[in-house]
Amino acid sequence: MELPGVGPVGVADASGDNDAHITAELSAIFQNLQQVLDIRHKYIRLSLQRDGDNPNDDPSWQIYPAPPEPAWTDPRPDHNTNGQNTGANSMSNSMVLPPQASKSQAADNISREPDLPQEGRKKPPKKRKAGQDIGEDFDMDDLLPLPSTSEFTFRLDENGVYQVFENTAADAANTPVVGVPTIKDFYMDLEKILLVSSDGPSKSFAFRRLQYLEGKFKLYTLLNEYQETADTKKVPHRDFYNVRKVDTHVHHSACMNQKHLLRFIKSKMKKCPDEYVLSRDGKNLTLKEVFQSINLTAYDLSIDTLDMHAHTDSFHRFDKFNLKYNPIGESRLRTIFLKTDNHIQGRYLAEITKEVISDLESSKYQMVEWRISIYGRSLDEWDKLATWVVDNKLFSHNVRWLIQIPRLYDVYRASGLMGSFEQVVRNIFQPLFEVTKEPESHPKLHIFLQRVIGFDSVDDESKIERRLFKKFPVPKEWDSQQNPPYSYWIYYLFSNMTSLNFWRRQRGFNTFLLRPHCGEAGDVEHLAVALLCSHSISHGLLLRKVPLLQYIFYLEQIGIAMSPLSNNALFLAYERNPFIQYFRRGLNVSLSTDDPLQFAFTREPLMEEYAVAAQIWKLSPVDMCELAKNSVKQSGYEYSIKQTWLGENFHLPGAEGNKILKTNIPDRREEYRYQTWVEEHRMISRYASNNELHQSTEHQSSFGMNVNPSSLENTAAGTVDSEFKDPASSLSNVEAGRSAPPSQQVDMSSSQVSGAGQGTVPGSPPPSAQRESSYPTDGLASMRLSSHEPRYIPGMMTRASRQTSLRRDSAPESDDVASPRSNLRKNGGAEEPAT
Ligand SMILES: [Zn+2]
Repeated sequence: MELPGVGPVGVADASGDNDAHITAELSAIFQNLQQVLDIRHKYIRLSLQRDGDNPNDDPSWQIYPAPPEPAWTDPRPDHNTNGQNTGANSMSNSMVLPPQASKSQAADNISREPDLPQEGRKKPPKKRKAGQDIGEDFDMDDLLPLPSTSEFTFRLDENGVYQVFENTAADAANTPVVGVPTIKDFYMDLEKILLVSSDGPSKSFAFRRLQYLEGKFKLYTLLNEYQETADTKKVPHRDFYNVRKVDTHVHHSACMNQKHLLRFIKSKMKKCPDEYVLSRDGKNLTLKEVFQSINLTAYDLSIDTLDMHAHTDSFHRFDKFNLKYNPIGESRLRTIFLKTDNHIQGRYLAEITKEVISDLESSKYQMVEWRISIYGRSLDEWDKLATWVVDNKLFSHNVRWLIQIPRLYDVYRASGLMGSFEQVVRNIFQPLFEVTKEPESHPKLHIFLQRVIGFDSVDDESKIERRLFKKFPVPKEWDSQQNPPYSYWIYYLFSNMTSLNFWRRQRGFNTFLLRPHCGEAGDVEHLAVALLCSHSISHGLLLRKVPLLQYIFYLEQIGIAMSPLSNNALFLAYERNPFIQYFRRGLNVSLSTDDPLQFAFTREPLMEEYAVAAQIWKLSPVDMCELAKNSVKQSGYEYSIKQTWLGENFHLPGAEGNKILKTNIPDRREEYRYQTWVEEHRMISRYASNNELHQSTEHQSSFGMNVNPSSLENTAAGTVDSEFKDPASSLSNVEAGRSAPPSQQVDMSSSQVSGAGQGTVPGSPPPSAQRESSYPTDGLASMRLSSHEPRYIPGMMTRASRQTSLRRDSAPESDDVASPRSNLRKNGGAEEPAT
């Protein structure tokens, strides 16, 4: 019996030469999987959503205002440690809940932190203490002058997609710089994925693999639990409380807890009752008058009257849940306190936001990615939002923003606000293209966008989507009262974002990711849509019903921000939540709060989320640290910041990229996850490529490349990078890609790189290429891809017992293909092209 090198990896592998048992059906399955992977790679590559594509993934990217200095430096690592992390930080803050901590009091608490005055001493006066004077280190003048105007032009095309052109001549010739898949391409590709995901044999294959992965993890835990505990005990200073955690999915207008909001409303009623806060029917109302009109005094207010908790009465009632955003059921209070665009220019919301930021900063290890709305109702929404953020100086090291776009076209259409869906596309994207062309045209928007990491699409997924037409009309012809389906919304976000990203990257501006809500309820088709074109998703509950898609989410390590407490209130009882299954199987899951205002009871909602999960599912400290690490990796924080939080080489897989001193995760856990993942990929690519090799010698090299799962990404990176080194060639390259049918584009890029010579790439590629995937695959090369490889494949037993023959001369070829990469690997870690 031959076991591969790593610990318990081989538990399920019996040896034996049963290649001969692999049936045609089986090879079809692998081809199906490979096909889906290829389609996704193409979309993600085109839209620049891979790790390393974003210019802010460059370690030298300037972040303004600069992140705080590290609290202690290497020479005396133990200095100050105790005071820093056990004294005034997260723990003690969470216990000291001042009876009526107003903004100033909260700030006082933080100022008492003994260690903070020491930090930032060496820096110019713009520095501020964490948790204090939020935004005071931000000064718009520091960022001037803004970049100049670009020569490129843009326009909305016939199909509702903004296209970018190198110059007016290219515009006239209609040759945009990037070939965005058309809506027809999109629906055809989606169809392919849906077909595969409903294919019986592929489904049961994926199901079995997932079962196997789960069982394997349990076995791993049984064998390694004690050792893991021992490993973490050896790490000085680090524990679950002081590893970084990002709340990867939280809506800004619900980011404070109820107690906080209540306190804030009461203090406003006491301190400024005569402020004009609302304009109704041409008459301005003071806060006092508003409360009189609803017959309430400050004394009456309690959590119960506020009535914003969604714990019992909103199960499967998303409509009811939406109403919970209204304090005391009054939409006018929501307008006054929770909107950015109101009579007081969102000042109250800005104030309470600063209080939340202050709490976050003082907890130090908790970060958020806040989702804030752009509705697409009018062209000036972006400027208003940017002005709100910039003028109120809502900048913090602990905060990044995502733009959420509610799918409300039908509402606007019904109210006569617009005639067709094209108006939504225009309102959402036109300002973004304008500011990318000429930052001076919307200066505040330009600056705000530096802190925006992507787009989200939100609404009740369980609404029915009727298919009215065999073929969907393009946006300017979409003038019916019906809301377009989820897929249609996502396509238009994706396609316009693709054009935008290309241009922004060309200009050296940060690019965006698509990170929609998906699979919370409704049709499982949404998951196929997200698989096709989004970087990561929120929720993903329905993956439990589609094993094949779930398996691909695993293979691709697509991030899933899950919120079991939110699900528990809305769609799925806690004990039925698939979170723990996903986690054991090795899907890339993180925990997030969704809406602390509605769901959380405590002052640290993210901790609450972790705590409940740990209690119910008996998560070990290592599990929790792994989840925290996932959340950082999924997040849109800049590369250099992730390095600070996770370690220099966090982008490398397995033990190599793990720094236990920062992550508190034992190497063996990382290595287990990585080797398990490699094994799955190796199996698929090996068998899928074998078939291809025999079917078509023409494509041999490119398919051979696919033996390494990274190769696609790898090659893609090579292509894109070469494009970007030389703008002229880049354009022609992309042009060529555009005119070719989608399937050829992938092949083209693969063969390009294999032609360029895998092992002998002269010079070292730009850093972006080196850090290609956060789950890179160099390790594949080090794993022996030989005929000694285990042949038994869990999940395939029944089928494999059929005696249909398949050639078995495959292994040597895989070996050959893998070898250049092993050479590369030996060339030395840092210089490796594309990981
Ligand atoms: Zn949400």
